Parts: sequence; C-alpha cells; structure tokens
Amino acid sequence: MDGGLNDNDISKVIEADKAHVWHHLTQHKPFETSDPRIIVEGKGMRVWDQNGKEFLDAVSGGVWTVNVGYGRTEIADVIRDQLVKLPYFAGSAGSIPGAMYSERLISKMPGMSRVYYTNSGSEANEKAFKLVRQIAHKRYGGKKTKILYRDRDYHGSTLATMSAGGQDERNAQYGPFAPDFIRVPHCMEYRAQWDLSGEEYGQRAADAIEEVILAEGADTVGALCLEPVTAGGGVITPPPGYWERVQEICAKYDILLHIDEVVCGVGRTGTWFGYQQYGIKPDIVTMAKGVASGYAAIACCVTTEEVFDMFKEDMSDPLSYFRDISTFGGCTAGPAAALKNMQIIEDENLLENCVSMGDRMLGNLQALMEKHKVIGDVRGKGLFLGAELVSDRGTKEPVAEKDVGAVVAECGAQGVIIGATNRSIPGLNNTLCFSPALIATADDIDRITEAVDNALGKVFG
Ligand code: PMP
Repeated sequence: MDGGLNDNDISKVIEADKAHVWHHLTQHKPFETSDPRIIVEGKGMRVWDQNGKEFLDAVSGGVWTVNVGYGRTEIADVIRDQLVKLPYFAGSAGSIPGAMYSERLISKMPGMSRVYYTNSGSEANEKAFKLVRQIAHKRYGGKKTKILYRDRDYHGSTLATMSAGGQDERNAQYGPFAPDFIRVPHCMEYRAQWDLSGEEYGQRAADAIEEVILAEGADTVGALCLEPVTAGGGVITPPPGYWERVQEICAKYDILLHIDEVVCGVGRTGTWFGYQQYGIKPDIVTMAKGVASGYAAIACCVTTEEVFDMFKEDMSDPLSYFRDISTFGGCTAGPAAALKNMQIIEDENLLENCVSMGDRMLGNLQALMEKHKVIGDVRGKGLFLGAELVSDRGTKEPVAEKDVGAVVAECGAQGVIIGATNRSIPGLNNTLCFSPALIATADDIDRITEAVDNALGKVFG
C-alpha cells in the first residue's frame, strides 16, 4: 500500500489546503509555516500520508470513529449500490435502509424503540434536548425544562450542546449560552472531590446530582444528559455503584435519562453500547461516530416507546407532534453503511476482539506505569483507553501541555498516531488517548504501547 503522490501533485494539494481550508481545532498562524499532514489512503489499522509514510492509527481517524478500520470495500459497495438506486428522500417517506437499520439497531438495544436520523453527534444531542423541552411543555405546563449535564462531559459544538458543555475553556468566547442547562459534578475518582473510594465514592458522586436537583427544584428538571464513559474530558470510567444510584435518582424525580453514546456507541467499549456495561436503562440514547465508522455521515437519536408515545398524545393540538426535520437525515447512504458496519462487527466477532485487545492494552499501559512515574493513572473500557500524565504522583500536578504534545509528536515520528484530551484545558490536557479500531491485533496493540514507551522515555527521561 502506498499513499504517496508525485511531487507535483503533493505541492498542488498542499497549496490548495493552505490557501483555502479552515481546519478544525486549529490555530492557523503557526500552521501556515508547519509541515501539513495530508492523509491520502487507509487500509485496516493503517493510513498513509502524502509522502507515502505509513502510520498505525491508534485513534480510529483522530476522534474515535473508524471502528471497523479502513478500506472496507464491502461498505463502499453497499453505499454505491444504494446511491445508484436512491440517494435521498426526506420527510415522512421511508427508505429501505432507514427501516432495516432501525430494526437491526433496536435489536441490540433492549428497551429502546424508535430511531430518529440526523448527521452529527451534536445534532443528535440537539434533537434529544428538543424532545425534553417539548415534553416539558406538553406534559408539565412549561416546567421541567432544565437539562443537567456534568462537569468535564462534552456533548457537541453547536450552541445548545455547548450550553451543556462541561469544559469551560472550550466555551470561552462563544457565550451567551442557552438557558436552563445546569452543571452537576463529575464522578472522577482519580481527581476526587470527596475523601471516599470505590462504591462509597460512586454513591457520593451520584448524590451530588441529587443535591443539584433538590436545589433547582425537582419539578423544574426534565433530563440528565451523561456520557457513560467520558471521552474528551479525560477518558473517565465511573466508580462502582454510580450508575445504579443515578438511575434511582432519575426514577425518583421523574427525570429522563439521556445517554450520550457518540463515542462509546457501536462497540467501542466491548458491548454494543457503553450504557450496557453498567446496566443502565436510558430513555434517550444518542450516537454518531461508530454508527457507520465514518464511511457516511450518520447519527441517531433513539428513544423508548414511552417517550415516542408522548408525541402521539393530544390530537386536538395540531402542533403536538415532534416538529423537527434534519435535511440530510433523509440520506440513504448512512443507514445502508451503518447496517453493513453492524454486520461486519458481528461476522468478525469484533466485540469479543475489543474486549480481549482492550484487556491487553490496559495490561500494557499498566506495565508502562511501573516503568514511567509520569503516568499517574490508566483508565478505560474495551478499546477506549487513557493514560493521565502527571509530574508528581502525590500532588497529581498535570505535566506541561507542550510535553503532552511532544509525546504525541514523538509517537507520530515513530509511525503511530495517538491522541490527547482537549489540550486547551488546564488540568484536563494531560491524558493520552487510545481508541484503535476494533480489528486491532495483539501485534498492533504492542506496537502502540511500545511507541508510547519510547516516547515517554524520550520526553521525560
Ligand atoms: N458527544 C460526545 C461525547 C463527543 O465526544 C462528541 C464529539 N467528539 C459529540 C457529542 C459531538 O459529535 P459531533 O462532532 O459529531 O457533532
């Protein structure tokens, strides 16, 4: 496999990129004089840049997305066939892939019932917020409009999802935000807020949510929106007992539980959905990245039949249904690709592989912790892992941001692409992230952790 272009083509692409592309998450001043990386081709776990340099991709396309790996001609084929037959139709009309993927998806989500198609994780979360707000108006006389979200969690880049964003530095300079989004504490035990551990910590962190509900007034709170395992906020797994208590609290105060599976969804943690690791019974589930592994832009907002039924009530009010549309929710390539994506995960036993390779990677990272004092904590579930870097294990002082960047760059120089949590957030910027495709082999995993080992040695000595 060779992603290389000829010299003439490379300079044309770079010229066009530098002149006209506004890249995501990029300060363009230093970028103007940097060497750009253009990814040209991918196969399995590997990608090639414009110079033909090969990389082992330990972050599934940068942001936890390409769960089944690159070069899946079987997905490309179903997309092509579907596009030739019918690319698009929107509104109340159905499509064959839309119907068939919904049925297949729901078969993996006992208790859930209805699939609403959209394009991005942010948009799926917006739909969920709109459902909650409309239920508040339909059922509770305009009360229960408040949506609780957690410190450190991230739900998207649009204004309403940023209003539910638990990472202040990301939000700076974009306010004012939407009203009635209320922050609650996180459950991260490594950077503990309470002098407790294990189950007691889990209970206490959940109780902190109840305290906010009571302070706000339970009759004003419509929903709680949480990531099952927090992604960009630091790859944070919940302490034992946390989710059971959260679930109890939601039931006690008649609060809808909205689980954001944009990262965890479709296999990343070793079960179809992250919430299934913790026995959670959600009312609303949103998902995006792994749904079609990036082969098509598709996201879903999934609800129970109870939630869906609320929108069939009150036929005397002509506006009581869910008055929402997403133009590209009518694209058929998305569900066609998603259906094939799910088939691949089943046929190749990728959930099982995710569990065993995740265990291997966790073990490798724990072994690195023995060797490198700079690793303060290793966390994760399945092939969704993080290693937090601290300059002192006692104080847990995060290492300098430039050093985290240096580790990522050094791994890149060794041909392994790894990630790091949101590097603009002090105290949150120090976790290396790993999310290899679910097809990873033992050799791939060992190669990733070997690169990290070398990089930590080089940067921290
Ligand atoms: N929720 C979570 C947990 C995410 O990590 C992200 C994106 N990283 C989103 C929502 C937003 O998804 P999108 O970028 O597709 O809008």
